[in-house]
Amino acid sequence: CGIVGYIGHREAWPIVIKGLKRLEYRGYDSAGIALINDTGLNIYKKAGKVQELENFAAGKNLSGTIGMGHTRWATHGAPSDRNSHPHTSNSGKLTIIHNGIIENYATLKEELQTRGHEFKSDTDTEVLIHLIEEVYKNDDTDLLEAVRLALNEVNGAYAIVVMDEDQPEQLIAARKGSPMVIGVGDGEYFIASDATPIVEYTKNVIYLNDNEIAFLKRDELVIKRLDNVIQTPYVQELELKL
Ligand code: GLU
Repeated sequence: CGIVGYIGHREAWPIVIKGLKRLEYRGYDSAGIALINDTGLNIYKKAGKVQELENFAAGKNLSGTIGMGHTRWATHGAPSDRNSHPHTSNSGKLTIIHNGIIENYATLKEELQTRGHEFKSDTDTEVLIHLIEEVYKNDDTDLLEAVRLALNEVNGAYAIVVMDEDQPEQLIAARKGSPMVIGVGDGEYFIASDATPIVEYTKNVIYLNDNEIAFLKRDELVIKRLDNVIQTPYVQELELKL
């Protein structure tokens, strides 16, 4: 179970796939990657090894300077292509990767179904992206605020990254009970479950704390808590033990 994200000026696919391989030691049963480019949102996901995902995606449209990848350790829903992350919302525009467990997903799912949401997987994770979409739609707010409000409705542990096909200049990440590190580059940001996918690109990292949400653009980073208080990012230098 691991997470990798990238937004910047380089191609995201090689960075994300390499990062997922570095996180393989954590154990997983499926892998997937989402990218946004001129053609919109592209998602590739497969049960099995990261290598299988790579083979599956070979020759497909893998361009894009914003992307995110996931290795899954199934808790809700059997390991399968369908249950692999990333998951998408009803509109198909919002997409999420998630490590952890959404404890109250069943209640939320029922409520969302009565409001017309159709689910494509058996995961707890998919419920969260539909919930974010529902808040986004109804509260006339921006995506960051929708994610924040949705997370306030959720019990459980998570590290998540969310992307919106219509806003390819931004990534949103959040954590509670699952680790998450942000690498700070020059006009680029990296996200990962631990620093191993990041070290070759930058030594400057921010460890996201529990109950924090990060809003990342290529040249902007805002961190706030779930209670909406803005945090001052604390950038640390990684000690590289070679
Ligand atoms: N609970 C989620 C699932 O079963 C995420 C599991 C994970 O941490 O990879 O899909």
